[in-house]
Amino acid sequence: MNQTISPTVEDYLKAIYKLQRRQGRVTTSAIAEKLGLSNATVTAMIKKLARKKLLKHISYHGVILTAKGEQMALKVIRRHRLVELFLNEILGLEWDKVHVEAEKLEHVISDEILDRIDCVLGYPKTDPHGDPIPTKDGRIEGFKETLSLADTEVGDTVVINCVSDTDSDKLRYMAELGLFPGVSVNVRDKTPFGGDIFIRVGSSEHRLPVSVAKDIYVSQVSKER
Ligand SMILES: [Zn+2]
Repeated sequence: MNQTISPTVEDYLKAIYKLQRRQGRVTTSAIAEKLGLSNATVTAMIKKLARKKLLKHISYHGVILTAKGEQMALKVIRRHRLVELFLNEILGLEWDKVHVEAEKLEHVISDEILDRIDCVLGYPKTDPHGDPIPTKDGRIEGFKETLSLADTEVGDTVVINCVSDTDSDKLRYMAELGLFPGVSVNVRDKTPFGGDIFIRVGSSEHRLPVSVAKDIYVSQVSKER
């Protein structure tokens, strides 16, 4: 049984889910910024989604997805991330190119094709950027994207969990430096006032712009002062 749901609604649910997961509070302006739309457009759509019982308002807080809204969001995210991995692993498309394609295919791919992709890939748990793939029954496991490489301190050793998938130029740059999920990074030095970060990856040292470091989410492994 498939309820028809428009690509636009799917994009909203996905954006709200990600904001919820990252920062808890989801305001109209945060959604507008994420989707590149005006506040007025977003306000109108929020009313529509509330009528459909996909989200609800919480006074002075913003919106939160209902269980139904969350399940729909997780379905789109599952399609997106499985498609990305399929394009990358099976078709050999570079990790900086798969996101744009998945943004389109996530709205049209059938459950049957998706199941086969899942099977061919061996029921994977993460996509090429390290993001967790929701299960078929709508569960999602894994870390929260709370600590970025930009938030680390000199002497920290961290391991990369995931990287933001939207900026192709940054993804190509990260690939050149070997900054992939699972790789460990040692923070050697930082320039003051939120400037560049000097890191060691394997046997090489790099100077990383903070704008790139902000897009890399990590877990702390050890501290050395
Ligand atoms: Zn993506």
